[in-house]
Amino acid sequence: MHILVTGGAGFIGSHLSERLVADGHTVTVVDDLSTGRMSNLSALTDRPGFTFVEGSVLDRQLVANLVKSADVVFHLAAAVGVKLIMDEPSRSIMTNVAGTENVLDAALSNKTHTFIASSSEVYGKNTSFPFREEDDLTIGSTRNLRWSYACAKTLDEFLALAHARESGLPVTVLRFFNTTGPRQSGRYGMVLPNFVKSALEGAPLTVHGTGDQSRCFGHVADVVEALCRLMATPQSRGDVFNIGTDQEISIRSLAEQVIEMTGSKSEIRYLPYDAVYPEGFEDMQRRLPDVSKLKRVTGFRPMRPLSQIIDDIVAEMRLTTCG
Ligand code: UDP
Repeated sequence: MHILVTGGAGFIGSHLSERLVADGHTVTVVDDLSTGRMSNLSALTDRPGFTFVEGSVLDRQLVANLVKSADVVFHLAAAVGVKLIMDEPSRSIMTNVAGTENVLDAALSNKTHTFIASSSEVYGKNTSFPFREEDDLTIGSTRNLRWSYACAKTLDEFLALAHARESGLPVTVLRFFNTTGPRQSGRYGMVLPNFVKSALEGAPLTVHGTGDQSRCFGHVADVVEALCRLMATPQSRGDVFNIGTDQEISIRSLAEQVIEMTGSKSEIRYLPYDAVYPEGFEDMQRRLPDVSKLKRVTGFRPMRPLSQIIDDIVAEMRLTTCG
């Protein structure tokens, strides 16, 4: 098949593109390189069947042309990362809403199967754990910019599912939980690359708040496996899936595990949220997915524990700093 990956020079997109090419598909990546990097695609640039197009999903005509020739679209281009959303809110909202609108509009003419990247953020302040796809979404006030990302992604979901209902567009909504692994940048706030980098440099690992907040981390290779299975499963169409694992760990324990696994002498430093985000912030205390639908529909089981995720990030960072 010919598969279009928007945001394919990004973290998840580049791993997905590599896998799709390895599986024998023809892949076109479109990316504006705002947060994605060409170096993420270094294993692919000379491969037959792979094409890179530098451009934005806000370019309606470009998107229309690229989607027209694709059999499947993975729309992963987005402004992500708490730091980026807080630093550049209006551009982030525009990319996340108008970009998705362009992709879905273009997909309508050939009814192209389109995967829309959403986020665990849409569960917002919900406290009924684990989060099930059918649960209510409880997003906070518009006065707090951190919720703009969740709102934009919720709108993307509404739009995708509305097209599915009105026009029979085959869409699949992917609610990504914390996905991590090699190539993830720490620049936009993601915790694991930041912790590993600090540990390797002997710098303090900065934990926001008390560190009692918890997350479930999925290895990007597992996430890519889940996406490939969903692509091959007709029941994925018209539905919403939590993508991730249910192995929960507190951020404090995560910091301790990174220090232990790297043999680092770094200390853990606790920073109050208002020191990190003077403009105000509400963190999620827990984020635990129910992944039973994903398992039931695709047979997917995550294969890589947190220790392997940390090992893989450490190996990559040692290589890039030494090499
Ligand atoms: N976090 C932290 N130190 C950092 C970066 C993040 O303590 O250097 C915390 C952050 O406040 C949150 C958790 O780690 O509670 C996960 O943050 P991340 O941005 O990776 O993901 P998300 O908040 O989107 O789940």
